[in-house]
Parts: sequence; structure tokens; C-alpha cells
Amino acid sequence: MRIALVTSPGSVEIRETPRPEIGEDDVLVRIAACGLCTMEAKLYTGAMPVYPVAAGHEVSGRIEQVGARAAALEDAPAVGDLVTVDLLTRCGTCRHCRSGNSAICASPQGSLLPDGSISMGAGLAEYVRVPAAHAWPVGDADPLHAAMGEPLACVVHSFRRGSFQPGDRVAVIGGGFMGRLHLLLGKHHQARSVTVIETDGTRRTAALAAGADHAVTPEEIDELPKADVVFVTIASREAIAAGFRAAADGARLVLFGGSHDTPDAVLPGYEVHRRQLTVTGSYSQEPADWRAAAALLRGGTLADRLAPLVTSRHELADVDKALTESSGSPVFRVFVEPR
Ligand SMILES: [Zn+2]
Ligand SMILES: [Zn+2]
Repeated sequence: MRIALVTSPGSVEIRETPRPEIGEDDVLVRIAACGLCTMEAKLYTGAMPVYPVAAGHEVSGRIEQVGARAAALEDAPAVGDLVTVDLLTRCGTCRHCRSGNSAICASPQGSLLPDGSISMGAGLAEYVRVPAAHAWPVGDADPLHAAMGEPLACVVHSFRRGSFQPGDRVAVIGGGFMGRLHLLLGKHHQARSVTVIETDGTRRTAALAAGADHAVTPEEIDELPKADVVFVTIASREAIAAGFRAAADGARLVLFGGSHDTPDAVLPGYEVHRRQLTVTGSYSQEPADWRAAAALLRGGTLADRLAPLVTSRHELADVDKALTESSGSPVFRVFVEPR
């Protein structure tokens, strides 16, 4: 089979490699689509210099083979099922995993492929092997939408972290891909209103077209009702400060966007105290989030809202073009479809 490996900043190679052999608890997935997210952009631009690396962690595909022990399990994926695939590794035994908080698993993600390359998903390939428990059937969803299962699960997780309830007023800082997923989930789950706060006019217009009740600049925050839950999807001090300004008394602020180089922000201690604000973080996702994301995809209820987030589609042979496009702004999701 073919697999794409990023070998140094700006270079990606397609190599021939044997199809993965599955174990008794695994399934083999023939990949339909792989979305490119900021992690792939960082690997490709050199911001995260880990080489050679098999990138691609937002994957959908069809089950080609099911291990014997997996096939005997209740609700096991079956040959031919379209699935959204959880490619992150969690140890399952650390105290966080054991307490149901596997998003903060203590064991590092990633593993080595047989040729010594580092796997950060290895989804830019024709096939991938995963434990059956990591393949989530999504019925007859659009395979491109199914490839958004991972980011969608992250946003389901974010809503859980923010203790979102129907009827809450929601503010989303940032109208990029992750901001848009927060918008669509808020609308789907009957938020009283969803406001998108975004500096870029094109993205504000797009957010309104996608159903945002308001789309405003950070300077306009004070003109709107304050939010019960604020999702900060951008990793900057300004975005966090905007989040505090958008928050109602008693609100929950979820710091969703972030990377290791996010500058520290000063916590407004008195405000947190006097206004009883809850500040929390949201990172990655957990099986319960995948379950909800798969259900949302399976029903097709989000299809109309997900469709505008497909920026472009490329064949595996053009993975370099796809990576170049997704490393430049502004895109929502660029997809690679191995065929
Ligand atoms: Zn991702
Ligand atoms: Zn763990």
C-alpha cells in the first residue's frame, strides 16, 4: 500500500509499504478520507520537527477486515462499515485513563512504524490498523464528514468540559474550523444564542451564514448579552482576554485552542472570584466523546452544517499540494482521499 511520510520541512514522500497485519482485537480500515489539521501543518512547516513522520489523524474509511476476537464482540464494526477512526493512543492504565480522563493520558502519543518512521496517526495512507474499539460506525454519512469525527469529538469534549446546557448563551472566540464546529454544536444542542467573535470580516460573514446569531469583532463584545459558556478556540492572550469580556457572571470559560507556545495570560483573579467564573481547559477527546460524535454523524443531522467546512479534496498522489494548501490560511479543512 502507499503511505505518505513527511521527511523534512516542506517535503513529503509517498512510499510503498506492506499492508498492516491485524491482530485479533484489531480491524483493518481502507481509508476513504483524511483531513489535515494544525498538527499536520506544524509537521509540514517544521514548527514541530519530528521526522520521518506518518501524519494524518482525522480519518474515515471502510472496514476491510476484522480480527477474530473483535468480531465476536457486541457492537463490533463489521466488514464494509463506514467508520470514523480514533488514531490516538492512550495507555489505558495510568491514573487518568483509569479514572475516565484519558484525554490527559500520562503516556505519550505516537508509535513507531515497522520501517522506523514515527506514527502521528499514519492516516495519509491507503490502510490503517486500529483496535476495533477505536473504529466508530457512522452509517451512511458522507465519508468526508466522517473524517471530521476526531475534531467533532474534541468539540463534544469541549462542551462537556464547559458543562453546556441547552438554553445557555454561547460565545465562541474564533471563526476558524474549530470555532465553526463549536457554533454548529451549540446550534444543534439548542443554545439560546451563539455569538462568534472574530477579527476577520469574511469569517464573520461565513459564521452568520452558518447560523450564528451574532458575529462581531472583539471591540463589539460589550454591545451583546454576555454568555453562559465561552469557548476560546484561538491560542492567544487577546483571545483569552476577549473570552473574559464575553463571559456573564457565573460563566464557564473553556480554553480550547492552544499549543505549547501559547503565551501565558494573566488571570483576572478578582473577576474570577467576584463573578464566580469557572476557567477550564479542553484537550483532545475521550471514548464518550467519540460515541456522541459518531451518533451525530450517523444521523446525518449535521451534514448541511459540515458541508461548508470542506475546503478542498486531493488525491494521495497530490498530498504535497494538500499539505501546502492546509499550511496556509485561510482554510477550514483540506482532505486527502487515497484511491
Ligand atoms: Zn485534529
Ligand atoms: Zn493513560
